[in-house]
Amino acid sequence: MGNIARVTCKTCGDQIVDTSALRGRVCEDNGHCEYRFTCPNCDSVTVRHSERRIIDLLESNGVCIDKWELPRSLPVAQITTDLTVIDVADLAPPPQTDTKLSEPVRYLKP
Ligand SMILES: [Zn+2]
Repeated sequence: MGNIARVTCKTCGDQIVDTSALRGRVCEDNGHCEYRFTCPNCDSVTVRHSERRIIDLLESNGVCIDKWELPRSLPVAQITTDLTVIDVADLAPPPQTDTKLSEPVRYLKP
């Protein structure tokens, strides 16, 4: 048995697991960290949000950490001509006719 860690299963409470039963996950873009483990008692998988320092500690103890990035947006089509007044008019929303929706906007104006 290698390093051990104490984890808390929602069903069984505190459990001692080998660190090989743990796996971490870090989003490189927003820093969200979590780890998961399979409970040795009931076999259910628990995922817990974690601080980065805990993930670093787990990694230094041999826990496999998956690092991932948010999906990048698809490339935007190139606009080859300048916008005209007609293009902008096409983009403008239709005139607001629902008074219930327009009232809060009126209140916000000085
Ligand atoms: Zn359990």
